[in-house]
Amino acid sequence: MKGQMMHYPLTTTVILEYGARVFPKKKIISIQPNGTRHEYSFSDMHKTCKKLANALVNKLGIQPGDMVGTFAWNHHQHVELYYAIPGIGAVCHTINVRLFPAQIEFIINHAEDRVIFADATLVPILEKIAPLITTVEHFIILNAPENFSSTLNNIILYEDLLKNVSEDFDWVEVDEHDACAMCYTSGTTGQPKGVLYSHRSTYLHAMGIIAPNAACISDKDRILIVVPQFHVMAWGFPYACVLAGAEMVMPSLHFQPDAMIKILSEEKINKANGVPTIWMGIYDAMKKNPPKEKLLLEEYLIGGSALPISLIEGFEKDFGIPGVHAWGMTETSPLGTVSRLQSKHERLDDAAQLKIRGKQGIECPCVEIRAVKEDGSIAPRDGKTIGEFEIRGVWVVDNYFKTNNRDSFSEDGWFKTGDVGTIDEDGYMEITDRSKDLVKSGGEWISSVVLEMAIMAHPKVKEASVIAIPDAKWGERPLAVIVLRDENEMVTGDELKQFLLRDFLSYQLPDSYVYVNSIPKTSVGKFDKKEMRRMYAEGELNA
Ligand code: AMP
Repeated sequence: MKGQMMHYPLTTTVILEYGARVFPKKKIISIQPNGTRHEYSFSDMHKTCKKLANALVNKLGIQPGDMVGTFAWNHHQHVELYYAIPGIGAVCHTINVRLFPAQIEFIINHAEDRVIFADATLVPILEKIAPLITTVEHFIILNAPENFSSTLNNIILYEDLLKNVSEDFDWVEVDEHDACAMCYTSGTTGQPKGVLYSHRSTYLHAMGIIAPNAACISDKDRILIVVPQFHVMAWGFPYACVLAGAEMVMPSLHFQPDAMIKILSEEKINKANGVPTIWMGIYDAMKKNPPKEKLLLEEYLIGGSALPISLIEGFEKDFGIPGVHAWGMTETSPLGTVSRLQSKHERLDDAAQLKIRGKQGIECPCVEIRAVKEDGSIAPRDGKTIGEFEIRGVWVVDNYFKTNNRDSFSEDGWFKTGDVGTIDEDGYMEITDRSKDLVKSGGEWISSVVLEMAIMAHPKVKEASVIAIPDAKWGERPLAVIVLRDENEMVTGDELKQFLLRDFLSYQLPDSYVYVNSIPKTSVGKFDKKEMRRMYAEGELNA
C-alpha cells in the first residue's frame, strides 16, 4: 500500500524561498576580492537571484538543462549563481580554478558550458585557453575593477547583466531528480570526471549537513565558508546555511592566515569549515601572534585531506577551540562521515577521546559505508581489518557525467572511494592509505599521471613517475622520480620546472626531482608507487 503524503519537490529553489520567507533579515557578508565588505540580507539575495534568473533566461537565452559555468571565489554573487542557475532548470557548473589549464579547457568543453561567470582576477587563466574553448557564448565578469579589460570575446559585466532587469520572475518548475549543479573531480588516469548533483540530493545533503551529529548548524550561527565554492559546492554550506537560517561570511580569495584571523575576529564567526592546510596556517599564525581578544569561534569542521591529530590537539589546548574531523568526496556531495564523540565516550580520558576524534568518523544518515577486503569479502567492523571503503546513499554519485564506465563501482552498485582503512566496533572509519594515484596538496588534487606524461614529454627523460610525499604544510607534495635517456645528458629540476610551466601552475609542480637508474615496477609492468613510497620513507630516494 502506498503512503498518502503530498509530493513536495525538494529543490534548491525551495531552500531559497524558505530562507527568504523564514529568515529574511539574516545576513550574507562578503569580503570581496578587492578587500571591500559587502553585506545584505537573505531577502535581498532572494531578489537578486530572481533578477539574475530573469537575465539568464531573457538576456542570455539559457534554457533548462543548459550548463552555466562559474569560475569564481567565495562571495555573494557566487551564492546568487548557486540559486539562480538551478532556479531556471539549468546546471550550475562550478569550475575548479586550481586545475591544470588543460583540464579546465577539457571540462568546459566536456560540460558544454554556454556561459561562464568569471571573477576578474581569474580571467587571465581563461584568456590563455580561450581559443580552445568551443561552446561558451558569453563571459560574465564578476568584481571587475574600473579599468578592466580582457582579450576574451563577448564580455558582459555582472552589474550590466542585471541592469534594467525585473525581479518579477516565476521560477522554472523542475523535477527534484533534475540536475542542479556539477563539479568535476580529478581522475587518476585520463581526464577529470563530472559529478552531476540533483536538486533532491542537494536538498537532502543540506539537511544532512545541518544535523547536530554533522556540522550542527542553526539560526544562531555565523559561519565562515572557507572551503572554495568551486570545490564540492563549498561542502554544500551555501545551501545548508540558508536552510538553517545561519549567517554566511564569504572570504572570496582572502585565504591567507592573517586575513582569515581578521575575518574570524571582526565578523564574530562562531563556526567555520576548511581543509587542514588552512587551519594549520591559522594555528601557526595565532601561535606567533595571539589575537588580542578571544575569538568567538566555537568549533571548526575540518576535512578534505589527512588531518594531523596534533593540529586538533594544539588548537584546543592553546586556544580552547575544538576541531571536528569529517571525510567526504566530490562524488559524495561531499558529506560522508563526521567524527564527533558519542555519549558513551564521555567518560574516556582525553587521549582516548582524541584518538576517536582523529578518525574520519561515523556515517551520516542517508549513506552507508563498508570496507571491502582484497578478496572481495566485507571486512568486519573490528578496527583492525583493512579494506577499501565503498559507499552508497542518497547523495552519492550513481554514474559520472557522459560516461558509461563503471570502473569506480562495485558489481552491486556501491561507489569505490579509493580510500583504504578500517571501521571499528563503534562504526568509526579510519583511513590508513589510498589506492588512488593522486597527490592532495592543500586540499586540491594534483594528478600524478598527468604530471608524469608531461615530464616524459621532455626529450632527455626516459621514464618519470610521480608520488605523493608527506608535507607539514600542504599535507602532501609531488615528488618526481626520473630515469634519464642518457646519463651523460642531465636535465635539472629547474629546467624541468621551466618546461612544465607551459602547462601547469607552479604549485602543481614537483618540489623535488630524484634521479634513479630504473623505476620499480609491479608484476604487470606498472610503476610501483607503493614501493616508491616505501623507498622514500626509508630514505632510499633522496633528491
Ligand atoms: P575530493 O573529491 O577532491 O573532495 O577528494 C576526496 C578525497 O579526499 C577522499 O577520497 C580522500 O582521499 C581525501 N579526503 C577527504 N577527506 C579526508 C579526511 N578527512 N582524511 C583523509 N583523507 C580525506
